[in-house]
Amino acid sequence: MRENALGQVPPRVAGVLTVDLAAIAENYRILKAAMQQRAVGAVVKADGYGLGAERVAPALVKAGARSLFVAQLDEALKLRPVLDRCHPALSLYVLNGLMPGAEADYADNNILPVLNSLGQIDAWAAFARSRDKVLPAAVHLDSGMCRLGLPPDEVEALRADPGRLDGIVPTCVLSHLACADEPQHPKNAEQLAALKAALTALPRAPVSFCNSSGLFLGPDYHFDLGRPGVALYGVNPTPAAPNPMRQVVRLQAKILQIRAIDAPQTVGYGATHRATGPARIATVAAGYADGYLRSISSRGHAWVAGHRVPVVGRVSMDLLALDVTGVAPEKVQPGDWADLLNGEQDVDALAREAGTIGYEILTSLGARYHRLYVD
Ligand SMILES: *Cc1c(COP(=O)(O)O)cnc(C)c1O
Repeated sequence: MRENALGQVPPRVAGVLTVDLAAIAENYRILKAAMQQRAVGAVVKADGYGLGAERVAPALVKAGARSLFVAQLDEALKLRPVLDRCHPALSLYVLNGLMPGAEADYADNNILPVLNSLGQIDAWAAFARSRDKVLPAAVHLDSGMCRLGLPPDEVEALRADPGRLDGIVPTCVLSHLACADEPQHPKNAEQLAALKAALTALPRAPVSFCNSSGLFLGPDYHFDLGRPGVALYGVNPTPAAPNPMRQVVRLQAKILQIRAIDAPQTVGYGATHRATGPARIATVAAGYADGYLRSISSRGHAWVAGHRVPVVGRVSMDLLALDVTGVAPEKVQPGDWADLLNGEQDVDALAREAGTIGYEILTSLGARYHRLYVD
């Protein structure tokens, strides 16, 4: 992560999230290489995993992505005009499917529904007939995740009556892996076999099977179009091995006050941290309302003036406390920045301290942080 441009940040700003768009583009290229240069799209749901879809999506298009995926129709409606300014021929898919009654919102805005059930296929086909048109869409086959997508009995119904797809041009057939981050898990091969069997019930179309971790399961899993999300944003898609991705985010929050304490003083709500001797406590302007999860209380670490320092006591809504006793007093002053995420402590490391996964750390990143994009 290159040095960020904190000089651009006005003094009123209490927290800065720096997003390295060049690192995102590099991660796209790493994933494209893992996919042996086949087509790779980009999942930008949940506001680009918390980093700002309107900024990360154009960077991914510039890197080569031509298929973009969001979860909700509202996300797609917001992103469509942004994408139209980037490139004339981008496919934008709504993973959560077709919302009954909203068919025209997809069709009129060049947004592709991912048809997740026979009911959605019938509704999209009927809508196409009502417009006297042939309409594109993706079809999602459930190969064993049991979340969204056509279950096996609906796939068989489609095989028996292929006319139900009349009026629909499948631009993509997709399926989703449940255990791709565990390469040895038997579910991966089971889902691969289930997908191959289900594909014979459908007309030929490009197949998309792999999320970030799936891309590292090898060529048997690749098919035609990769569909990564989290790895683009720097989270390790291969948790059992070193992270092949480049770090994308840096998170800094301002130190508001520094207080010298001594036993028997306690720090924070619940008085859970008890000084055992002289100490210096820095109060920092980030809390669980900013997605700095309360589970990090008394467990996490931050970086101040090049020192790794512990989070002490409970994380509160807008504040957290760091024990900076080990940092020379002249090196840490109110107004200085504490690094909550940086080159020493990545999203996965903070997630471990919080007892969660990198996905949740990223998508929890608060709206109050000033977002700074570097390229
Ligand atoms: C979120 C999602 C992805 C991206 O998954 P990552 O693990 O973030 O790469 C791909 N496909 C579907 C259906 C998803 O819901």
